[in-house]
Amino acid sequence: MIDLLNLPGVTPVDIRTEGGYIVIVADVQESQSGLCPHCTKPLYKHGKRRITFADTPIQMQPVRLEIDRPRLRCDSCGKTITFELPFLDENRRCTRRLIDAIRKRCLSVTFHALAKETGLAVNTVKNIASDLIAELEATVKYETPTILGIDEVHLAGEYRCVLTNLSTNSVFQILEFRTQPVLKDFFKSMPDKESVEWVCTDMWRPFKASFGQYLPNARLVIDKFHVVKMASEALETMRKQYQGELTKRERLFIKKSIRWITLKRPSSLSKDEIEDLDVIRQQIPHLAEAYDFKEAFYRIYDVPTKELAMGFFEAWDNSLPPKGMEPFEALAKTVRRHYEDIFSYWDTPHRITNAYTEALNGLMKISNRLGRGYSYEMIRAKTLYAAEARKVGMGVKIGGNNQIPTNHVLNSVEYGPHIPTLNTLSEDDNSSM
Ligand SMILES: [Zn+2]
Repeated sequence: MIDLLNLPGVTPVDIRTEGGYIVIVADVQESQSGLCPHCTKPLYKHGKRRITFADTPIQMQPVRLEIDRPRLRCDSCGKTITFELPFLDENRRCTRRLIDAIRKRCLSVTFHALAKETGLAVNTVKNIASDLIAELEATVKYETPTILGIDEVHLAGEYRCVLTNLSTNSVFQILEFRTQPVLKDFFKSMPDKESVEWVCTDMWRPFKASFGQYLPNARLVIDKFHVVKMASEALETMRKQYQGELTKRERLFIKKSIRWITLKRPSSLSKDEIEDLDVIRQQIPHLAEAYDFKEAFYRIYDVPTKELAMGFFEAWDNSLPPKGMEPFEALAKTVRRHYEDIFSYWDTPHRITNAYTEALNGLMKISNRLGRGYSYEMIRAKTLYAAEARKVGMGVKIGGNNQIPTNHVLNSVEYGPHIPTLNTLSEDDNSSM
């Protein structure tokens, strides 16, 4: 029969199907002889033992290899030695090529799907993946970002800390928790600390203390989206205050039509929505005014220079009436508390923003989809080491950090998985499930 196995040292002699498996019986070409590893005397044949191993699927069906494995014996010291089959992984009871195939796909396909395909136990697939992750953890290093984003994302039941490279739009690292000790440990051992120039995060105060001492050249900028989001939240608070004063019918109308007011910019409103806004202007002018304050606050970020932006904010704050706009007064106070770190936005080289709000959504999707049965470690690895997304995040660096190239050595570097690609991947996965 033709050699459908293509494994060195064995020849297939029979094939049958059995309980959903293709079973291939193979003979060992006994070329191995040699000397006893214990006493270096010659070895002799000493019977055979039938073994069964898993191999790569054929025509979408799991495969089992049945091999009569010769044993060898040393007459001199009496020890028996098992004939070596280099293509086998003895611990996992499968061929090395099957392990390779699983390693290539275990971060993009579910363990259950792989177990079903190969006929292996889910736990065996999981263990192969764990080995791979440990290897990746030890060997894969992403280039330290010049512009570092830090945020929280809800992953596997807890808030986790996601660090991103905002110049390349890639995930740099995922930490189990966003607490001072965890961040301090991380920054302490992070290579190329001096290359971080900007850190973009939300208004979480302990953060400054956690990186300040380790990143000597870093300046903090509070993420634009976290700042403007507070204006939307202020408007939302006012809407809720109003709801108590309205009749049931008015309340339903306001609730339905104001949802987009808190989310959308005027330029993206539909014709119907513009009409709704007009109704609100006539019937609840105070709430429409709150909408205008929210919009005006958003426009601070459209201003081209820091001085103008500061002036715009002052004018906005001054235009708030003495009473009736308390949620916006609170917003103004928050801005003043973080004044320097908010307005440093205009000092950043290319207007740093968290375009990766998108990415957080992508990560959520992965998390929700894999939530059951997948640990935080696994979701983290799937995100951080996703092969397709990592391909995009490659680059070439000349010499060391900001150094003049010596010997024209080009070091290829990796910046981590590309966030938009990760999102596309998680959408594809979702649609196929
Ligand atoms: Zn011996």
